[in-house]
Amino acid sequence: MTSNPFSLEDKVAVVTGANTGLGQGMAVALAEAGADIALVGRSQPEETVELVEKAGRKALVVMADLGSLEPIDTIISQTRERLGSIDILVNNAGIIKRNDSIDFTEEDWDAVMDINLKTLFFLSQKVARSMIEAKTRGKIINIASMLSYQGGIRVPSYTASKSGVMGLTRILANEWAKHGINVNAIAPGYFATNNTAALQADETRNKEILGRIPAGRWGDPSDLGGAAVFLASRASDYVQGVTLPVDGGWLAR
Ligand code: NAP
Repeated sequence: MTSNPFSLEDKVAVVTGANTGLGQGMAVALAEAGADIALVGRSQPEETVELVEKAGRKALVVMADLGSLEPIDTIISQTRERLGSIDILVNNAGIIKRNDSIDFTEEDWDAVMDINLKTLFFLSQKVARSMIEAKTRGKIINIASMLSYQGGIRVPSYTASKSGVMGLTRILANEWAKHGINVNAIAPGYFATNNTAALQADETRNKEILGRIPAGRWGDPSDLGGAAVFLASRASDYVQGVTLPVDGGWLAR
């Protein structure tokens, strides 16, 4: 074993929604720290495959629509078969729907809750079972949000789902710590990705947001790498149930 507590050498990470945005940023950071990566999602992650391989690691693509629980068993079996184990799970895939709460539809409610919360829970459950069976230590990292802490506006299902992610992170940490599985979350602040394209394009909202970020800029997906590697590595073995903000200081204001 390497003496570097942040090394992920010989580890295998499953990262959902890694074709773009924050998932890509974290997949590349984990690969640079030494992990092979299963890239799970509904769009071909060509660019991420290239970046992971450039870091000298293996990239396995598992095509899956995470709007349902149906692909979960295949994600686990393919990763174990092709990469040998699952040591790290990053539940990153997620969506947002914007509308006034007074007009919000059941369809937009279910779409967001299904992927952001339901799939996150059941994928974690099955991965945790496979870690327990394999008697390996495990790391599960959920992607939360500023709206795990705050109410937000015009995104009721997103706020409900991300507040739920923070709660689930705590209960799963409580239950699975005894199995050597750490469950923690990262709460990204405002990052320039597809998820925030509407906010970036809205001049007024963009100015308001930037004015509140002490760091004075939108986050770049690479800004999440350090937190992801920390929570995936031995360095965080005694960290349990935490939701770590990576937000340029947004919550400190
Ligand atoms: P993004 O660029 O829109 O990426 C979202 C990822 O999730 C994409 O890979 C997307 O695939 C995937 N995905 C969505 N629905 C899916 C489905 N049904 N099946 C499989 N994959 C699916 O957004 P992002 O900003 O990187 O978001 C990543 C995570 O961070 C999300 O959980 C988001 O809520 C959270 N977050 C983002 C911010 C921010 O400021 N950007 C802040 C806080 C939290 P496609 O490309 O095929 O759609």
